[in-house]
Amino acid sequence: MQIIAVLVVGLALVVFGIADPLEPVVWITFVAIMVTTVGINWLVATIATEPLKQLTAAMSKIAGEQSPLSPPNPNATRYEKSGLRPLLRWIYEDGPSVTVNDAEAEASNETRNTLLEAFSHSSSSVVIFDAQYQIALATAHAPITINDDNVKKLELDFLGETSLSEWIKDCEENAVTAEKTWSYIGTRPIGDPKRRVYDLTASYNKGSANPVTVLLLEKTGDYAVDDSDLNFIAFAAHELRGPITVIRGYLDTLNDELVDVIDAEQHELFERLIVSANRLSGYVNNILNSARYDRRHFSVFLIETNIADIYDSIADDMRLRATSQHRLLSVDLPRNLPTVAADPSSISEVLSNLIDNAIKYSSESGTIEVSAEQEGNYLEITVRDHGIGMPANVVSNLFHKFYRSHRSRETVAGTGIGLYISKAIVESNGGTMGVQSIENEGSTFRFTLPIYATVADKITATGGDNREFIAHNSSSWIKNHGSIRG
Ligand code: ADP
Repeated sequence: MQIIAVLVVGLALVVFGIADPLEPVVWITFVAIMVTTVGINWLVATIATEPLKQLTAAMSKIAGEQSPLSPPNPNATRYEKSGLRPLLRWIYEDGPSVTVNDAEAEASNETRNTLLEAFSHSSSSVVIFDAQYQIALATAHAPITINDDNVKKLELDFLGETSLSEWIKDCEENAVTAEKTWSYIGTRPIGDPKRRVYDLTASYNKGSANPVTVLLLEKTGDYAVDDSDLNFIAFAAHELRGPITVIRGYLDTLNDELVDVIDAEQHELFERLIVSANRLSGYVNNILNSARYDRRHFSVFLIETNIADIYDSIADDMRLRATSQHRLLSVDLPRNLPTVAADPSSISEVLSNLIDNAIKYSSESGTIEVSAEQEGNYLEITVRDHGIGMPANVVSNLFHKFYRSHRSRETVAGTGIGLYISKAIVESNGGTMGVQSIENEGSTFRFTLPIYATVADKITATGGDNREFIAHNSSSWIKNHGSIRG
């Protein structure tokens, strides 16, 4: 319309002799006006129709139709600003209802029966979830349990990995479509005769009546070797503990008895031997505890204690480790901090792992600070170093079993299970663990322990074990006999 108006006005100016068509400046002005008019029109049309395009793409998505536009994610910040978020959410969550006629319903029933029949001959299975994330369909051999409230659940133990429910939660917030695969996911602890092991692939499709589909490939036979390896590792680590304890004991005794006989250089050698023996013992404990954890045989033995007392049991060892590596260890654990009902031996292993890492991943004469303070109903313990730090992609993998960054793999010896088991121990004591790190500046590891004046208080609050805590804090499940010692 505006273009036609520009043409008419131009023609009128020429006809009435106001503009001379032989003058180039007239044509230049005319072309400039035309280009500007077309540009403004195009811009206005694009901006004005953008929300409509997004809504159309969302509608196509839930209707299952192909669309050249990728479907919008209502949680993206741009939709908050544009005000489209509630409308997009409504389309995905409630949506315009789709009427299904009898013929379509019958066809869909037939498809369902064919699928169920086909999978009844296979040990692999498919599980489909409805929009409330309840199991809508599960084929014959799917690992399903029914809880006390008659709700069907997938019986899968993701241990330290991102669980299916965590992944779905993440998808809900950040994705419209997504897919993830997991390997070697078991239903029960290693050694349980009813254990099944699967590789799984889950797909997420926002807005669909069945947004999550999980395909489970039965791999129990294939992974039998890994299971027996883990059994062997648990056995070997258990057997190694005895001789290592004897070596550490004799080294300590000899060091005390020979203190007046040996010279300074020999004394230093002795201390190095003790540090190495203690480190070896730490590695074996980590291996043994993670094998127990993976087999769900891990237990914590709660007593009423405080963080300063827990640290006392490893203080000499830590001081020796730090000085032998030329690091400065600054420990500030006030004795008047509230009591925790925790397992001192496993928490001391966590502290020892974190301090050991702080020593390993920092440079000579670097300072390592260990401190604790009360944060609400929790005690927060911090181990800070000023060492090599980590980039964000390393931080996100840190608590996975056997994970070691490229940089540390090339430079420092280690197993990659210290942090995995430390997090598991902290969670089994009812706390959480996290890290903040800046590459080349250092790392700060923090863990919390809930404050309870007595073990009885903790057991009352957690119903006799830590499952309550663990359910909130991680995907993992740790058997806790909740025994009271001392
Ligand atoms: P390990 O130290 O035996 O490799 P861990 O599970 O204790 O195993 O740590 C896993 C990885 O996390 C390490 O290999 C290292 O890459 C990184 N890491 C742990 N602690 C620190 C730290 N304080 N500073 C920098 N990187 C760290």
